[in-house]
Amino acid sequence: MEFWHYLQSAPWSDPEAWRWLAGLYTRNFLKEGVFYLVAAGLMWGVLHVALRRRLAHRLIAQWPSSGDVRREIRYSISTLLVFAAVGLAVLAAVITGRVEVYFQASRHGWVWLVLSFPLMLLWHDFYFYVTHRLLHTRWWFRHVHGVHHRSRNPSPWAAYSFHPAEALVNALVTPLALAVVPLHVGVLLAFTLHQIVRNVHGHAAVEIMPAGFTRHWLWGRFTTTTHHHLHHETAQGNYGLWFSWWDRWLGTEHVQYQQRFSEVTGRAKP
Ligand SMILES: [Zn+2]
Ligand SMILES: [Zn+2]
Repeated sequence: MEFWHYLQSAPWSDPEAWRWLAGLYTRNFLKEGVFYLVAAGLMWGVLHVALRRRLAHRLIAQWPSSGDVRREIRYSISTLLVFAAVGLAVLAAVITGRVEVYFQASRHGWVWLVLSFPLMLLWHDFYFYVTHRLLHTRWWFRHVHGVHHRSRNPSPWAAYSFHPAEALVNALVTPLALAVVPLHVGVLLAFTLHQIVRNVHGHAAVEIMPAGFTRHWLWGRFTTTTHHHLHHETAQGNYGLWFSWWDRWLGTEHVQYQQRFSEVTGRAKP
């Protein structure tokens, strides 16, 4: 807070002001970077390295090459730079009172505190589906979204492997929500953690959900690794993020989804 008040009054010729700003930016970058590094590193280390030869439920014939993994990490770092910049803009909006991030749980009532997390997931899922469909139109795919689809055999490191323009589109999900509603700092943290864990899981290239999951009345409403993996393999269908319903309602669920899931989860353990 003090940083920002200082920055507001600081003369911009003062190198100290720029140092404060650089410090805040670096802090944002490192925070998002640690979440990415831990989540992708764990998923990759366990599935693609430690258990590599013992996994029957692999979705890929070939493991991603080290060149693929390096490219995914390079683009993910560029995405983290964009996320850190958007985080700085959000911080500026909070401190100048344009949007509200609150710390006291009772400030807007417990009902809002509890409801705001699932509502954020619904909003993110809807926002992602719509923007993802647009990213699949010819110009956007050729110039922007194609970067993410260079991973036909993705690894968990592909979680943030986006063109900077797509990184910006994805990063706007939280500021757009904050423009309408106040959010508790804990809800924002839970939202970030859920986002990175499910994101690396979607790019794991190994199905870890049990047989029958996609046909269950409740679990079938959640997306799986097979769901997003098919999207990477074919660049068609399965545009959804957390839930399967937008693809079902709008007829974009991949025609082989159920069959592929049953096939991969039906294999005997080696
Ligand atoms: Zn993907
Ligand atoms: Zn896509």
